[in-house]
Amino acid sequence: MEGPGRAQRAAGAPGPAPRAEARCRYGGGRRSFEVVPVAGLGLGVVATSDFACGDLVVAERPVMAFSWGEEDRVEEMFDGLPEEDKEVVMSLHDQFVDGSGQADGQRSLDGVMRTNGYRTGDGFVLLTLLSRFNHSCSPNCEHSFDGDLSEMHVYASTDIAAGEELRTYWMELAAPTDERLALLREELGFTCRCPACVRSGAAAAASDGRRRRLRYLQECLEDLRVEGADADVERGLSSKKNKTA
Ligand SMILES: [Zn+2]
Repeated sequence: MEGPGRAQRAAGAPGPAPRAEARCRYGGGRRSFEVVPVAGLGLGVVATSDFACGDLVVAERPVMAFSWGEEDRVEEMFDGLPEEDKEVVMSLHDQFVDGSGQADGQRSLDGVMRTNGYRTGDGFVLLTLLSRFNHSCSPNCEHSFDGDLSEMHVYASTDIAAGEELRTYWMELAAPTDERLALLREELGFTCRCPACVRSGAAAAASDGRRRRLRYLQECLEDLRVEGADADVERGLSSKKNKTA
């Protein structure tokens, strides 16, 4: 892949299945993207309208949801799905068969779940549309699961022009390039060629420096949480805000 780029709708590209569509709602009340073939990546999600940073792209309810301890119910729940949902689920990428995307063998439910399942804290879910968003280490979308609504929310995290691929991320971004590339190869079986991963020289060193700094700050915040000092953090931020106001 060459990073976020422009894609053309190919003849025969899959449109949304009705049941999958019914699990989604869209920012602005309409779907402003399409799932189309993307060079070197199989399918991807491409904007058909502009998005402003912060816009809701899609909110999607899972096709299957499990609590921890229900791992052995995956097949049973899959068997109970309508045929249309089964087809959509089994059309998703299976890294253990498709590998780098060059070969296409017989996908397995286990492989599809391990490739596309999303941990929610309470358990794990499968989302058929979110699974079509490709990874970037410099993503233009952010996603998070709302447990109360049982919805995955995808937001634009930058301004996005129509024609750009929408990408979120599937691993920790606060890691230097070598570490990200190794983890993506190991966990997802592909070599990332997003804009952040193809940088070299001073630009790459600066990016890695920012990510190390980000990781350090995340660890500091985590330490404060572990110590139960959230109230102190709030007080500190409030104090700083008052001083700088
Ligand atoms: Zn990357």
